[in-house]
Amino acid sequence: MLLRGTPVSPGLARGPLVLLDDGIDGASRARGTTAQETVKLREAIARARDELGVLLASKAQNGAAEDILAFQIEMLGDEELTRPAFAGIEAGAQAEHAWRASMETEILGYHEAEDLYFRARASDLRDLRDRVLRHLAGTAAAKVTAGSIVVADDLPPSRFLEIEWGGGGAVLFQGSPNSHVAMLARSRGVPMIVGAERADLRGHEHGILDCGNGVLIASPGVEEAANFAARRNADERMRAEEVHHLAQAAVTASGERVQVLINVADGLELDRIDPAHCDGIGLVRTELLLRTLDELLDEEMQYAAYRRIMLWAGGRPVTIRTLDAGGDKPIPGYTVDGEHNPFLGVRGVRLSLRHPHVLTAQLRALARAAALGPLKIMVPMITTPREFDQVRRLLEAAIAVLRAAGTACAPPELGMMVEVPAAALAIDLFEADFFSIGSNDLIQYVTACSRDSGSLATLQDPLQPAVLRLIHEVVKHGAGSGTPVSLCGDMASDVRCIPSLLGTGLRSLSVAPAALGRVKGAIARYRESAA
Ligand code: PEP
Ligand code: MG
Repeated sequence: MLLRGTPVSPGLARGPLVLLDDGIDGASRARGTTAQETVKLREAIARARDELGVLLASKAQNGAAEDILAFQIEMLGDEELTRPAFAGIEAGAQAEHAWRASMETEILGYHEAEDLYFRARASDLRDLRDRVLRHLAGTAAAKVTAGSIVVADDLPPSRFLEIEWGGGGAVLFQGSPNSHVAMLARSRGVPMIVGAERADLRGHEHGILDCGNGVLIASPGVEEAANFAARRNADERMRAEEVHHLAQAAVTASGERVQVLINVADGLELDRIDPAHCDGIGLVRTELLLRTLDELLDEEMQYAAYRRIMLWAGGRPVTIRTLDAGGDKPIPGYTVDGEHNPFLGVRGVRLSLRHPHVLTAQLRALARAAALGPLKIMVPMITTPREFDQVRRLLEAAIAVLRAAGTACAPPELGMMVEVPAAALAIDLFEADFFSIGSNDLIQYVTACSRDSGSLATLQDPLQPAVLRLIHEVVKHGAGSGTPVSLCGDMASDVRCIPSLLGTGLRSLSVAPAALGRVKGAIARYRESAA
């Protein structure tokens, strides 16, 4: 069976097919007797509890994770929590529906709590709800082993990051080239197609994912397997050329040095990257590192994570972005639910300024990590100078408190993302220490095309004049005012865009780690006069 989709991250993969979220709502089965449904739910809860117990035993490394697991185990053993679901079964509901309905009520109670700590518990309950549902559906065993081809409706970025891909790939029925999960796939070198044709893949155990042609072949035949082997050889030859550039500094054919930094998600990917292959880190997306409310409030955990990144960089510059939650990166209990258009809603700095104590915890951890080396802080989704000034004041206040307490810290440079057209068009009004152009959002806002829309992907051409003119204006302002300008959107990782970007005068790019070799190759082929 062959399914077509839109390739969003290049590469080839061959491995077991793992179908995620298959039948989790129980819609496809008939209800048993009340006694059978009761037993089914009781067993699913017991299995979920056992599973959490195993996780707790193996997660001794992180206090926050331990607390969450312990809370979840306790909740599953609490009859107050489970009683309404069993009552629902008595009243005639199927186990899945009874469990879901009773948990929704419980989650709502926590979710509407004023206190952020209680709101954080809502996401733990959501996880419990789904864990038990997966056991009810019998899909809990759908473990993703390294090298698998994951097939899912969609994958939240947090789920993507939990998976050990190891040569595997992903096929999504929804999704778009500009979504964060697609971006992460490119960043990690995980082949992915999105918007794939829907098909029932149950019973197909293996597959070949060919992102060059945008297809998934389920249960491939002999000829298809041979074809795959030949393609993989060609792919490896291309990679060998990239490896050659990887170890070199990026220099254009006319001899100009270009700074090439990398974009980082949760920092775990750094173990697989040689720091000597880049000029530092141009963007750490902390909303992919801090995924729960507990972590947002945990200064020590954040400091440890930033410290680890600083040590990896070994003196190279590191730009860490304050939280850009919202849009397609929700943090349950923290981001605003039910917005009509989350990309135009309360995300990035807009959300951070509504919760100054959460932002302050992050600024404190960052100022402390700045004592370890050249750390810069970057603020996302800035629209007005006032927002930027508010963050600067919070940072100054945080540093003053740290110093008064004798805590080691240093004042980091404070810069901003240029990704909202209002900021790009009035760039001269912002007193930032540096600018970094976020082409992903800039393109979506300039073209009025939501970045998660697969069907509008062709309108979001990064090379259209409107976007390039804005980039050019920001670069010109940076040169005139002596403010460094970089670009950290995905455009910098797209080799087709390199000549145009260098043509605007940009000499600093932050790219997906998997694109380092090919971007450096494209820079080496660029000649000034060719722009
Ligand atoms: C961007 O918008 O280009 C960017 C780098 O930020 P993100 O993709 O995380 O929104
Ligand atoms: Mg952005």
